[in-house]
Amino acid sequence: GFDAKMTPEAGPYAGQDRYEARKNLVADLARLGLILKEEDYIVPLGHCQRCDTVVEPLISKQWFVKMMPLATPAIGAVKYDLLKIVPGRFNKVYLDWLENIHDWCISRQLWWGHRIPVWYCDNCGQMTVSREDISACPHCDSTAIHQDEDVLDTWFSSWLWPFSTLGWPEVTADLLHYYPTSVMETGYDIIFFWVARMVMAGIHFLGAVPFHTIYLHGLVRDARGEKMSKSKNNVVDPLEVMDKYGTDALRFTLATSSTPGNDMKLVEDRIVGNRNFANKIWNASRFVLMSTADIPGGVPSVYQVQPSTLADRWILSRLARLANNVTLLIEDFQLGEAGRQVNEFFWSAYCDWYVEIAKVQMQGDDEARRATAGILRAVLDQSLRLLHPFMPFVTEEVWQYLYRSSEPDQGQWPASALIIAPWPIANLQAIDEEAERQFSLVQEIITRIRDARNQVNVEPGRRVPVIMAAGDQTSMLETQAPLIEFLARTEKPQLHEQLAQKPAQSMSQLADSVEIYLPLAGMLDIGKELERLDKEIAQARQEITRLQSKLSNEAFVTKAKPEVVEKEREKLAAQEDRVTKLITRRAELAG
Ligand SMILES: [Zn+2]
Ligand SMILES: [Zn+2]
Repeated sequence: GFDAKMTPEAGPYAGQDRYEARKNLVADLARLGLILKEEDYIVPLGHCQRCDTVVEPLISKQWFVKMMPLATPAIGAVKYDLLKIVPGRFNKVYLDWLENIHDWCISRQLWWGHRIPVWYCDNCGQMTVSREDISACPHCDSTAIHQDEDVLDTWFSSWLWPFSTLGWPEVTADLLHYYPTSVMETGYDIIFFWVARMVMAGIHFLGAVPFHTIYLHGLVRDARGEKMSKSKNNVVDPLEVMDKYGTDALRFTLATSSTPGNDMKLVEDRIVGNRNFANKIWNASRFVLMSTADIPGGVPSVYQVQPSTLADRWILSRLARLANNVTLLIEDFQLGEAGRQVNEFFWSAYCDWYVEIAKVQMQGDDEARRATAGILRAVLDQSLRLLHPFMPFVTEEVWQYLYRSSEPDQGQWPASALIIAPWPIANLQAIDEEAERQFSLVQEIITRIRDARNQVNVEPGRRVPVIMAAGDQTSMLETQAPLIEFLARTEKPQLHEQLAQKPAQSMSQLADSVEIYLPLAGMLDIGKELERLDKEIAQARQEITRLQSKLSNEAFVTKAKPEVVEKEREKLAAQEDRVTKLITRRAELAG
């Protein structure tokens, strides 16, 4: 019973404490000779989470909702495509549960919650269910009544959420306008508790499925993939993360690290990387705005700007593709991929390439400066709009700053704030495959030259000579020579369709079919480099001698741990390899 004592049904044990009753029962069995043997074994046993007392099952009266009549139309909603579940594999989970539904126990013995609207009469014993609170029994007029002590299960309130938030049961303007809604987003772990029940309640009370799409995200786990829990002390507090790295960094990480319905690991390095991305947006935008501050023309739309260089055509083409892809990906709920594409475009295409190239283009006449500034601003504007759902704070700040600094007439702004500005519509006319192909060759050439410089440690400021055999790309590359000079720190490139013979004492690189030659004499002082190599070779040889004598020392080889000996052998092999490479380098250089 409720007093934790045995009830009258327990016969001779009635009124006894459960532990006492058990002992007495065993003693009685023993007296009757009914015990064959005693043996310890393990059973699953529930304990109170507060005081650790063993919990006993107790039969009691509860309120239930009959579910089959509610479940049937909710099954139909998915079967007849009125409700789409993303990812689709959860259809089966949803349907299995509804097709095997149990009646729902909705009464809870808690202090907080919606109290069950049932009154009991202490006079006539009748029960009354009422929407309004009552003060007297409708059966016998007695005022000796009391309300049911229990409250409703929390999900019994939550399943009304799609319409109770809109003023239901009143027919409000909000209810008429916003019900049903479009997309519901939640964790897959509450598909039964909440999602299926909202569908049932929506159909039952309002006759319409409450949303056409349900998007299920995964659980956020810790960096090792463990479920976060207070007892494991591995809970990442989002407020602390936001204080440390910014809200945009956390939001971008959560949005881009997950795929629908799959759990994700929250890795701090990723949040750091995305904090750096937020900083990149801030710094690059500030640079663009400051370097174009004195140039009029406002923020043109991507439909207005006129590309005049290969780089202009390329960035506008890439942007058009991006806007198109991101829109399709978001419509398809591939939020992670959408975010990754905007990140990649903004960081690499815009910041690392176009903003750098703009420095060259801005050295031209007023018309060139104005055209370049227009494209810089137009692409920044569109990038910020595409990024806004992922990083709302930094993009809003930068976007308003962009318009305040370049467009004094607020009447010309597309909106007073980014959050209500129109979503970009890709300018598909700007897609230019030739420009993308040609520009990617220019990028590859610049990257190859940079790699070569790094390999031989050319001082960063030094301009190096470069000779190219470019075949049918020669005239195209002639027009891009200033970019190569600026971005790869070269002298004016010497472009040939073909070279009768390969330049001697040069490093050679291949970018697609373009041969690139970098004469070493232009990259470094050959005499000094030979001296440096000789020193390095001598040092490596010394190290080899030392390791060889150590390894031929029997005392060492027999007494040291095998893994220590193995380590020394590896070191020796590495040094021998180094000497071989240095000698080859020296031979190339000496010609
Ligand atoms: Zn307890
Ligand atoms: Zn009564």
